[in-house]
Amino acid sequence: MKYIISWVLRFIPRKFIQLFAHRLIKIYSIFLTGNKVYCPVCDHSFRHFLPYGRLTPRENALCPSCLSLERHRLMYLYLKNETSFFTEKPKLLHIAPEYCFIERFEKHLGDQYITADIESPLAKVKMDLHDIPFEDNTFDAVFCNHVLEHVKDDVRCMQEIRRVLKPTGFALCQSPQRYDLATTYEDASITDPREREIHFLQDDHLRIYGRDYGTQLEKSGFTVEPVNLIEKLGLKESQRMALPLEEIIYVCRK
Ligand SMILES: [Zn+2]
Repeated sequence: MKYIISWVLRFIPRKFIQLFAHRLIKIYSIFLTGNKVYCPVCDHSFRHFLPYGRLTPRENALCPSCLSLERHRLMYLYLKNETSFFTEKPKLLHIAPEYCFIERFEKHLGDQYITADIESPLAKVKMDLHDIPFEDNTFDAVFCNHVLEHVKDDVRCMQEIRRVLKPTGFALCQSPQRYDLATTYEDASITDPREREIHFLQDDHLRIYGRDYGTQLEKSGFTVEPVNLIEKLGLKESQRMALPLEEIIYVCRK
């Protein structure tokens, strides 16, 4: 299974995966009935999660019911436990919307919920993050996860997110990060796709952020609060929900 998933991620265009993969995986989920792991996003338990990843697939990562990964479950827990997201109805701009969240957010927020992306078939508004087509101070929340490592000018995109955020709002802009790197790493001279994958995790990543990611976000004017929810939840809960081994949530405010 792990090699099939790795092959699909490498060779099938992402938009086809987003449109069709969940149907096949849902069918497979009947073979994973059990109680060892729990997904807080869809409220289902399984024997284990599915493996996921391109280079070396990670065991126990993908929820077969809602397709959440470790980082999605962590973000969902942050919203549920640490914010008023689910008790109020914030106006949300969700950039590059993750499949596991769309239906849930839509049900909760109705027309307060706007999905946007430059190419994702899951998004309703087509837009370039360098030039967001909304007025200043429009949204109570902006989510833009695993996007900034792909864009040409990441600081400009962060500034755009900050611009459309209300002064009372917050943004979550998580990106792949290597905690063993002190500073963010870019090298345009590496052009071989395989080499780029080794250096930047994916060949279409323009950079890999280091431990300075919070400082990078602050370059756009954001005030950034790092939250270590994994530590707060403890090892047992983190393992039961297969959360990331290490991930700081950077809560960005105006
Ligand atoms: Zn799930």
